[in-house]
Amino acid sequence: MIAISRRLESTLRGSDIIGRLGGDEFVVLLQKIHSIDDAIYVAKRINKALKEPFNLEEHQLFTSASIGIAQGTSHYDNADELLRNADIAMYSAKAQGREGDYIIFDREMYEQVSEKLQMEIELRQALELHEFQLYYQPLICLTSGMLIGFEALVRWFSPKRGIVSPGVFIPIAEEMGLIVPLGHWILQEATTQLLHWRRAYPFAAALKMSVNLSIPQLQSPGFLTCLDEILQQQQWDGQGLQLEITESIFMEDLEGLLSLLQAIKQRGVELALDDFGTGYSCLSYLHRFPLDHLKIDRAFVSCIGQGGEQSEIAAMVINLAQQLGMTAIAEGIEHSHQRDHLQRLGATSAQGYWFAKPLNAEAAEQLLLHPLPWLEQVEVA
Ligand code: C2E
Ligand code: MG
Ligand code: MG
Repeated sequence: MIAISRRLESTLRGSDIIGRLGGDEFVVLLQKIHSIDDAIYVAKRINKALKEPFNLEEHQLFTSASIGIAQGTSHYDNADELLRNADIAMYSAKAQGREGDYIIFDREMYEQVSEKLQMEIELRQALELHEFQLYYQPLICLTSGMLIGFEALVRWFSPKRGIVSPGVFIPIAEEMGLIVPLGHWILQEATTQLLHWRRAYPFAAALKMSVNLSIPQLQSPGFLTCLDEILQQQQWDGQGLQLEITESIFMEDLEGLLSLLQAIKQRGVELALDDFGTGYSCLSYLHRFPLDHLKIDRAFVSCIGQGGEQSEIAAMVINLAQQLGMTAIAEGIEHSHQRDHLQRLGATSAQGYWFAKPLNAEAAEQLLLHPLPWLEQVEVA
């Protein structure tokens, strides 16, 4: 840190002030600059200086900095606000992930941060206030045309914002750690619903429930205990429960992941790889990890029939799944020709708006009682 301070000092004028805020954060006050260009010039100079290696005993260390710039104007009432804005810009530079970047604070950035903080406050209460609800999207067998299960999809019914989609709030819940208790609730609610339907309707005794898992949820130390508690409470062997994970999990500790997934499988629970083909997965992982299903992402279903290389991917995924002894589940079927094509290619089951959108529990139950002729040429209203 001392070496870094020295290096920073060497890029500044005598009238500038440098301080360490703690950890690896420094603050630089440039006095009497003419325009923002002067600050940008200094930011570039700092980054250039930090690029030079540091010699520590016989080792060479390389560093870089994410720099946030806030311009002091007469609008500021106090120094704290100026520092806070520089901090916001710095985090934005960090979030962009490009080493050695600088970002200049602007009002929009402030509004985004305040909006996120506000959402965090509301999300924290939402679980206690029972504002989350699960919707269920039917999963259809492509050979029998039968409804064989549902995928649970969470919704946030915010009194202030209306229905908020998981794509918006799940990443924030992950960042703030709320995903662990929220994920627990989702798993409990989805399995309770499944067992209720199975017990109420003997014809639905083999119904399945697929539940999405977030990476931080799966990696939280209590995940297996949480799963065990739920299975025990329900006096259930886990047959028919399917957990969905995404490919980005393969970026993490692979040995730890392998034993975790094996432990899940030992509990009788199936594993599906969601959004397959959109993320990063080395093909050898598919072989090594105990996965049961590959879910073909909607991106590769929507282009079916349009020609081009992308339209071939669904066929390749189905083939791959078959070779590896897994089943292929098609996501996002919106047209009957997609269903027909995937059925011909050998996809085992499918979901999509063409069959049904995600439904609340009541509507899903109605569909269970009065299934539609999904494999006939009948458009679902
Ligand atoms: P996903 O697991 O891949 O879920 C499929 C998404 O595609 C759902 O969006 C579903 O409503 C939508 N979808 C299904 N069929 C069609 C179709 O034919 N056309 C189109 N355009 N969309 C279709 P949703 O419910 O907004 O969920 C988005 C993502 O949020 C999910 O993607 C999943 O990654 C995450 N998510 C949803 N619920 C949960 C949850 O309970 N826990 C966690 N960890 N993540 C969740
Ligand atoms: Mg999913
Ligand atoms: Mg998906």
